[in-house]
Amino acid sequence: MSRKKEEAVVVEPKMAEPTNHSDPYTSMLSRFYAAAERLNLSPDEIEILSKPAEIHIAYLPVAMDDGRVRVFESYRIIHSRALGPGKGGIRYAPEVNMREVMALAAWMTWKCAVVNIPYGGAKGGITCEPKRMSLGELERLTRAYTRAMAQVFGPDKDIPAPDMGTSAREMAWIVDEYSRLNQGNYIPAVVTGKPLELGGSRGRVEATGRGVTMVILQALQRMGKRVEGLTAAVQGFGNVGSITARYLSQNGIRVVAISDKSGGFYNENGILIHQAIQYRDSHGGSLEGFKGGERITNAELLTLPVDILVPAALEDQITPANAPQIKAWLIAEGANGPTTAEADPILNDKGIMVIPDILANAGGVIVSYYEWVQNRRGHYYSESEVQERADNTIKQAFDDVFTRAAAQKISLREAAYLIAVERVVRALRMHGKY
Ligand code: GLU
Repeated sequence: MSRKKEEAVVVEPKMAEPTNHSDPYTSMLSRFYAAAERLNLSPDEIEILSKPAEIHIAYLPVAMDDGRVRVFESYRIIHSRALGPGKGGIRYAPEVNMREVMALAAWMTWKCAVVNIPYGGAKGGITCEPKRMSLGELERLTRAYTRAMAQVFGPDKDIPAPDMGTSAREMAWIVDEYSRLNQGNYIPAVVTGKPLELGGSRGRVEATGRGVTMVILQALQRMGKRVEGLTAAVQGFGNVGSITARYLSQNGIRVVAISDKSGGFYNENGILIHQAIQYRDSHGGSLEGFKGGERITNAELLTLPVDILVPAALEDQITPANAPQIKAWLIAEGANGPTTAEADPILNDKGIMVIPDILANAGGVIVSYYEWVQNRRGHYYSESEVQERADNTIKQAFDDVFTRAAAQKISLREAAYLIAVERVVRALRMHGKY
């Protein structure tokens, strides 16, 4: 890859060749191809949707606190605008790479389509270690990224949001920088997941975890199972994992295991989630040293004898290597892409119901949509109004997916992809050929 000095360079998708057989983009493609075949898409349609629409790369020089300049690699990738402007978060993590962001952008297309909100799919990422950067360094990095992507972002073009390693704080810097670049006109709808004071929505922070819990409760209801006595293990204790764990325990499901990068914790009587959240918040965002359970590894957590498993950390966690040992009978994917495509048939054969990422974790982008609507109307909803709308939206999507899966005798993932790809392709056809 040539290291260009320009701030935003459009690169041929050809450059993004697979790095290994289970990379997230390959997993995304194999699910898309399966849906495309069932839906009889034309070769042209398959060609269009199997590639991102745009890849923007910028190298961001940032003045570090020690006086030196460091150059950070950053991306913004639009997968599709067929159903509306690009939408999706920005990830700050050391592992961020182009293939990963390509996959995450495509998953946003399918996610927005499956829950029927008027957006395409996009994702951003910066290869950095946010936990090792100062507040000032992070602010300069975020502002540099916003300047580099100023022509890409826009309330009707591409609307970023938080993802792993980012939060309302970064969104505040983005809306501030973007508005400065637009003669000081305040443009809150350019980004979602903002702090309340700057035009954020009530209920946005909890939205993803709440949605994960909603679809789990819906699935239990459809399976005729009672909540009493059920246990769950949650991998990942960031925004999604911790809030899912909290809602699950509030709804009477015993969360017996949690984990983060530092490892896992198991307690058969149930982990006290409030305590774990408090511990994390007073220990630099890490569970390291938490005393609420016996130590286990992240790998052990995935194969615990529990009823419900919520992978809410990274991609590629459930693979053919550990899928045969999974004991949960319900998996809700809080993370994007936690299961590799090769593991899908193993889980299906075991009769495990998997609520796929593009449905299970859509609660976040659903409330992002309501945030954008509120910004454009200049009228703000109460928390209960937001929750009611979001709950109804995700329940409707779950019903659509469940009904289709039952009718066609396919998995929830296959059904979700069929619904999503069908909606996107219908729009694509209406746009016509340019
Ligand atoms: N990063 C979140 C996701 O993966 C939220 C995206 C958004 O709100 O636009 O769905």
